[in-house]
Amino acid sequence: MSRGFVSLVGAGPGDPGLLTLAGRDRLANADVVIYDRLVNPEILEHVRQGAELVFAGKSPAGHTLTQEQINDLLVQKAREGKRVVRLKGGDPFVFGRGGEEGLALAAAGVAFEVVPGVTSAVAVPAYAGVPVTHRGLASSFAVVTGHEDDSKQEESVDWERLATAVDTLVVLMGGSALASTASRLIAAGRDPETPAISVQWGTTADQRSVAAPLREIASRVRAAGLGTPLLTVIGEVGRLRESLSWFESLPLFGKTVLVTRTREQSSALSRLLRAQGARAVELPTIELVPLDDNEAWAAARALGLGDYTWCLFTSANGVEQFWRAVVGVGWDARVFKCLVAAIGRATAEALRSHSIVPDLVATESTSEGLLEALVEWAKRSGVPAMQSLQGARFLYPRAADARDVLAEGLRAQGATVDEVLLYEARVPGVPHRAALDIIRSGRVDAVTFASSSSVRNLAAMLGPDLQQLRTATVACIGPVTAATARELGFEVSVEPAEQSIAALVEALCEHYRRAGP
Ligand code: SAH
Repeated sequence: MSRGFVSLVGAGPGDPGLLTLAGRDRLANADVVIYDRLVNPEILEHVRQGAELVFAGKSPAGHTLTQEQINDLLVQKAREGKRVVRLKGGDPFVFGRGGEEGLALAAAGVAFEVVPGVTSAVAVPAYAGVPVTHRGLASSFAVVTGHEDDSKQEESVDWERLATAVDTLVVLMGGSALASTASRLIAAGRDPETPAISVQWGTTADQRSVAAPLREIASRVRAAGLGTPLLTVIGEVGRLRESLSWFESLPLFGKTVLVTRTREQSSALSRLLRAQGARAVELPTIELVPLDDNEAWAAARALGLGDYTWCLFTSANGVEQFWRAVVGVGWDARVFKCLVAAIGRATAEALRSHSIVPDLVATESTSEGLLEALVEWAKRSGVPAMQSLQGARFLYPRAADARDVLAEGLRAQGATVDEVLLYEARVPGVPHRAALDIIRSGRVDAVTFASSSSVRNLAAMLGPDLQQLRTATVACIGPVTAATARELGFEVSVEPAEQSIAALVEALCEHYRRAGP
């Protein structure tokens, strides 16, 4: 049996991108992960499939597991020979009770390590535009707990001495005691006009902050209704916030944006939206169900035998599904002996990711656009036998419900088109509850559509609840999608010039930049 081992890992302050590489590595290799309430659920996606997940979360209201029970659990799991990760918000050794857990492990003779995390004490002020030190304004900072619990001697803070000894004070866990913390500091000589900034859910899309002079901060936080987790940074450095507030100035900051792609495709779009400050809510409206594998396999083989002039792809999904079929019959990239055409950039990207460089990418990403591009290509090819599409043979792997304008158009030009119905795009069986609740409560600010079927399926999934999205900003990837959205009564206000996910996000950002905050 292997020797058990415990990693005390810091998950960072909330933004899932602030997990360290070492932290991600430990999660990917863990047998057991024991995590806290403040750990962003997205971070748990790095956990290896099949690993045991234990929620040790402490809520302000009650303790799920006592500290002693957590210590015992760590020792017990390690003694079973497991690789254990104890995952904590921020840094494990900053008010994280990581020290206590380390001591328990040491006492029990269990091997352990500490993987530090990005502490909220520094990162949350940074996301609020406040550097904890700054030349000429602050050359020292202290991180203290504002938690008032006189029964815990070790947590009592000497406010008297601290008030004027340190330039910047970062107060953690101080929500309810903020008023008394502020008055103690003022009583001990801190200037009541000192800038103070309280930040709730810092580094996440739920970040909210309030700035006020120290004498007023508690009442302003209460009036704004800020809740936990909350920290307060106090000091002259707070004056820099106006110029340095980069995160709260992001174009999509505070906006709730609905992502309606397939589950597999959602994460790339969500990541781009979150990078612009948005709260991305995923409600997959499309589920890809492979159709007849025999047909796909036969097509893959036929392609490998070099019977075709062209192989056409009209979506990135089509590329992925066809590739699955190719690999499924034991073929590889050598299957592509013919010319390859892609309807647009996203489809071309999908091909390139399999090292297939398309010979033709339509500039106008519609079936009509691709048809026209193929006709043009033939004319210009310089090969007499190829100058018309007469007699050309096309393999067209596609979704069962795609528009067949392309196949019909090619046939009209005298070409032979073998359509392979690879997959069907269906409405998912069980929609995501949490996402539905957000829609029903009218909290969605913007909706993104990357295909016509996502528009139609969303309408089918929501029924009368679609009303809730009528006032939302609608962003469509291209003209065909936008036309479908309009048919269903949406007012489309964002449509990028180029059909790609990155351009869609950029156009949405531009929309909000123009509209102002
Ligand atoms: N080990 C953690 C701190 C744990 S104590 C760290 O290094 O960050 C929990 C306190 O941290 C909360 O009460 C709050 O004051 C602060 N905190 C943690 N995450 C926060 C966040 N995203 N926004 C604001 N405060 C946060």
